[in-house]
Amino acid sequence: MPNAQEYTAVYRNVKHPRLEFKTGTLLMILPKTGWTPEQVLEKYGKWITRKQETINTAIQQTTKTSLIKTRTEKMLRTLVNRYVEAAQKELNTKINKIYFKKMKTKWASHSKNSNLTINTLLKFLPEDLISYIIYHEIAHNIERKHNETFWNLINRKHPDYQTKEKNLLTYWFLIQKTQANNPLEPNCRTKSPHRR
Ligand SMILES: [Zn+2]
Repeated sequence: MPNAQEYTAVYRNVKHPRLEFKTGTLLMILPKTGWTPEQVLEKYGKWITRKQETINTAIQQTTKTSLIKTRTEKMLRTLVNRYVEAAQKELNTKINKIYFKKMKTKWASHSKNSNLTINTLLKFLPEDLISYIIYHEIAHNIERKHNETFWNLINRKHPDYQTKEKNLLTYWFLIQKTQANNPLEPNCRTKSPHRR
């Protein structure tokens, strides 16, 4: 690799290597046998470099970004309900229930029985990103996986979804910075920390 990649390696009872960027630098979770960190870098180096660049850019952007601090949780609920209604109509699908809770690993999630869980930290986001997250989750009611069908669906309403995903990553790290004692962990493997 051209540049030395900073990383931490830990060994756990996992079958395959897992790569995470929880705090902004690479954490390798390796099976107890079969893989050395060097082998992982050799095999996944390109992906790791690309991912690390995306993360670094997002972290740099945090200095030019600010959280919305005037929205209460009650205001968030009202806003979310409104966007859920709209997205359900647009996508012609219905979810079951909406739950709100503070989560450390994602912006929102969609369950098999069509329930949505919304991270209350969404109250810090600008409205266009809230709208995007809700639409994204409701679209999971139609397609659970992040496959081509899914992104085509997203593209109809949010053609700039890639930019929005990057912005979400920036906000994620910004919130993490402001809650330094209680670090958040981005979770959504290839896209941004968000949801299922
Ligand atoms: Zn998703």
